[in-house]
Amino acid sequence: MPTYDAIIIGGGHNGLVTACYLAKAGWKVLVLERRYLVGGACVTEENTFPGYKVSTCAYVNSLFSPQIIKDLRMHEYGFELVERNPSSFTPFLDGRHLFMGPDSKMNLKQIAKFSTKDAENYPKYEQMLERVASVIEPTLSITPPDVLNPGIGGAWTLFSLGNSMRGLGTNLSEAMEVLTGSARTILDRWFESEEFKATLATDAIIGAFASPSMPGTAYVLFHHVMGETNGKKGVWAYVRGGMGGISNALAKAAKDMGVDIRCNAEVAKIVVRDGYAVGVVLASGEEFEGTKIASGVDPHWTFEKFLDPKDLPPDFLAAIKRIGYESASLKINLALSAPPNFTALPSNGVGPQHHGTMHFCPDQDFIERGYDDAKYGIPSRDPIVEMTMPSALDNTVAPEGKHLASMFVQYAPYKLKEGTWDEERKNKFADRCFDIVEQYAPGFKASVIDRQIVSPVDLEKTFGLTGGNIFQGAMHLHQLFLMRPVVGYANYRTPIRNLFLCGSAAHPGGGVMGIAGYNAAREMQKWW
Ligand SMILES: Cc1cc2nc3c(=O)[nH]c(=O)nc-3n(C[C@H](O)[C@H](O)[C@H](O)COP(=O)(O)OP(=O)(O)OC[C@H]3O[C@@H](n4cnc5c(N)ncnc54)[C@H](O)[C@@H]3O)c2cc1C
Repeated sequence: MPTYDAIIIGGGHNGLVTACYLAKAGWKVLVLERRYLVGGACVTEENTFPGYKVSTCAYVNSLFSPQIIKDLRMHEYGFELVERNPSSFTPFLDGRHLFMGPDSKMNLKQIAKFSTKDAENYPKYEQMLERVASVIEPTLSITPPDVLNPGIGGAWTLFSLGNSMRGLGTNLSEAMEVLTGSARTILDRWFESEEFKATLATDAIIGAFASPSMPGTAYVLFHHVMGETNGKKGVWAYVRGGMGGISNALAKAAKDMGVDIRCNAEVAKIVVRDGYAVGVVLASGEEFEGTKIASGVDPHWTFEKFLDPKDLPPDFLAAIKRIGYESASLKINLALSAPPNFTALPSNGVGPQHHGTMHFCPDQDFIERGYDDAKYGIPSRDPIVEMTMPSALDNTVAPEGKHLASMFVQYAPYKLKEGTWDEERKNKFADRCFDIVEQYAPGFKASVIDRQIVSPVDLEKTFGLTGGNIFQGAMHLHQLFLMRPVVGYANYRTPIRNLFLCGSAAHPGGGVMGIAGYNAAREMQKWW
């Protein structure tokens, strides 16, 4: 039977990062991926529409760790970021529009079109978010301590964290509000223009089954000042050739370091002997032995499917079963014959309005109403659509003269009150999304050559994302940091010796960051 120092279950970008760092340390590593290609939710697929490179799931990057890019020399393996400036465009039906982006002078001018008071407040608001980010960002790459048994190292980490919180001084309560409160409360306090707030609020609900008035949504607001592109803080980018540019560069680096990558290799079982993970069995029956095993697949699959419940402590299993995977995100990928031509800013071809994320949301109440439908299990009658068109800045993703776009849409609840996410329902929902864009850009519908609708159920079936949750588990405060995936096991370890978690189910959670994989590789190399 083939034997490895480490077996990685799932070739998502995090699993690949783990594989690379272990191989760099001289380990013999095997990656087993269920699909025909590696990357998980961070992929480019070329068989969706002929001639197009489709980022089926994730579509923009800012969070991927610069340290990993450097350590693994990813630029030498074809990885390249394409900066988006402006980063967002919001057209309104009254003919006005709002651009936002990395240019702070432009931002102020743009906001002032809606409210001079908001333009004055915006730099102070950003500083407030940056203060919170300065405490949170350093925690991403640390191993959260086991609060139940912190030991000296864990106690020191907790003390240091408390100390940096203390450093916020009188801003501490504001920081706590960002971490636990509702986006709407904060936005309503800082700003008066509904148009401006709507653009900020749509970012706060990405991937969450929550409306901006619900506690926990403010947390996402500071993602806007987190991360970087080519050293520029808070700038989001496309990856040249699609998001698979990240995973493919990682896979090439891994192969160069001797990692064996097997696609079409679905893991069915983790073999446990005397409390130790010792190998895996594929659905095909093929077996592999490994000294250490890391799963980049979510906890539902890892603990409830790959393992025998009798190998796990009942309280741990109960905590795993309590993890929330609620979700209402749907993605539509589009082949277009022409860029959308907005009434609020007409163009002849590509303009700055197509560079970033195009928002179609007049005010925060629009989002609230969309959520109201979904909370009763009804797909939003007026969905919240965020559209991107990477071909505006990257001519490698669509045939000449054509365009590639995508819509990230909420709310499309995984659990429907009636019926299923069958083709008819998917098409009806997509048609409604198209109607919304058509209101702002007449002729848009006629420009659609082809479309792929990825429902929450498709996310589960194709990508193994339980409940269609795009983050391998909802990013609620009680499912973050010390509590991700569950209390007592945030240090990438599990109750089974030599079995680790290395995907976004572990700290710091979802998003294309690579940090869960990086942290897991560090922990796997420790002797305890
Ligand atoms: C629609 C959508 C849009 C998103 N947009 C963005 C975005 O724009 N920017 C951003 O930063 N993040 C975005 N995200 C989130 C981000 O893509 C994910 O958090 C991230 O890619 C997760 O990476 P991972 O490696 O942890 O896990 P995954 O990508 O989930 O990888 C897990 C891997 O395990 C494999 N697998 C599952 N079961 C088995 C099995 N039995 N045997 C072997 N292999 C198995 C899967 O096929 C997959 O390759 C989005 C996610 C989705 C779904």
